[in-house]
Amino acid sequence: ARRNPGEDDFYQAVHELATDVLPFMKANSRYRRMDLLERLTEPDRIITFRVNWVDDDHNVRTNRGYRVQHCNCIGPYKGGIRFHKDVTLDTLKFLAFEQTFKNSLTGLPMGGAKGGSDFNPKGKSDLEVMNFCQAFMTHLYRYIGPHTDIPAGDIGVGSREVSYLFGQFKRLTNELTPVLTGKDLAVGGSLIRPEATGYGAVYMAENMLDVKGERLDGKTAIVSGSGNVAIYAAEKLLQKGAKVLTLSDSSGYILDKQGITPEKLEWIKALKFERRGRIEEYADEFSGVEYHADKRPWEVSAELAFPCATQNEIDESDARDLVSNGCRLVAEGANMPTREAGVKVFHEAGVMFGPAKAANAGGVAVSGLEMSQNSMRLSWSREEVDSRLQTIMKDIHARMLQYGRDGDTINYQRGANIAGYVKVADAMIALGVI
Ligand code: NDP
Repeated sequence: ARRNPGEDDFYQAVHELATDVLPFMKANSRYRRMDLLERLTEPDRIITFRVNWVDDDHNVRTNRGYRVQHCNCIGPYKGGIRFHKDVTLDTLKFLAFEQTFKNSLTGLPMGGAKGGSDFNPKGKSDLEVMNFCQAFMTHLYRYIGPHTDIPAGDIGVGSREVSYLFGQFKRLTNELTPVLTGKDLAVGGSLIRPEATGYGAVYMAENMLDVKGERLDGKTAIVSGSGNVAIYAAEKLLQKGAKVLTLSDSSGYILDKQGITPEKLEWIKALKFERRGRIEEYADEFSGVEYHADKRPWEVSAELAFPCATQNEIDESDARDLVSNGCRLVAEGANMPTREAGVKVFHEAGVMFGPAKAANAGGVAVSGLEMSQNSMRLSWSREEVDSRLQTIMKDIHARMLQYGRDGDTINYQRGANIAGYVKVADAMIALGVI
């Protein structure tokens, strides 16, 4: 904390991992080396730059851009780019740290990184978004490459933004090198990449329930967020026969007690991906729907919870509400959505808790598959990518059990932290002090 003043999110991410990894290190002579963990708390490299761009009124605007290259011991740096008004170096350091262990858990050769800007995409025209993306890439392009660092999307960065970034990279380098994932299908994107994080979180929940001999079919679920991850988590839940009651955005949440149907979800996709509207409009469009302004959906009673919006959206008292309302499984679609005190509440109450670095790894896993397809210059079918995604989520679940099972109880968080750490630590030991 002294070395990284004010970086609360980064500290939280490191503390959460160290709590599980330190006892494991002490008990295993091969990993009884503090320098490994110490080295991992310092990113390999942090790049920051000024981004100047011109808005529709011809004003010159200035934002700050970042890329945190955390660790490339098991593969080139890989991790999303976030555009959100609240982005700070702290946010991106925590996300890059998490990404290293998440990517390790996928079993694919990818290191960890994260980037972004405090640019606020809300209310910006398409031209402004393109101007910003081009200005951002004009700085970033010299630090990335298909064997060095391959960024992707995150909050505020979907396939439109990734493709604009890619276009500028092409213009600057005269190469159509696959240097980003999450691209539009027209320029080398992969089928199922937009769906992968949300679908993956639901596949993870399915694997967790399966251990208890249970199924998703007939269960009630609350989902937060209404972006890329939330919408596709809801879609897969519906396909699996669960009833989805809520979605949200930073202004509030909607409660549809009859359950969101596939037709209503198509309407939400158009609202969010095309019209870029607010979730509140759902309550005006469909009857019997409640809108709760300035609130999060954790007060709603349901068996499953999928936090898919942002970090620290479930605090200790939200976790208590969820438990007392009958929640039995939490699968984190967002990154670090639950505060440490909330995770403790879930563990004490015996809630099945699927931590972000495992439950939302489906997105980066399919990004890895996008890279493979680009290298081979071919495109797999939806079925092929989806089936590989399901296998990867199953394998991640098995890796968590290896280190997280303790008799009849399973601590998935400990399992994910240790399994993610071991692969990175093995690579660091093999590479020597570098
Ligand atoms: P989107 O930008 O598509 O959607 C984000 C959603 O979360 C929006 O509904 C947004 O509402 C809401 N949200 C954002 N910030 C806040 C906040 N401070 N308080 C309440 N609601 C908020 O992003 P994604 O769906 O891609 O990402 C969501 C989460 O999933 C993030 O934590 C991201 O890091 C994580 N993730 C994403 C992956 C991906 O493949 N996209 C991969 C792995 C993890 P509003 O519009 O009002 O801001």
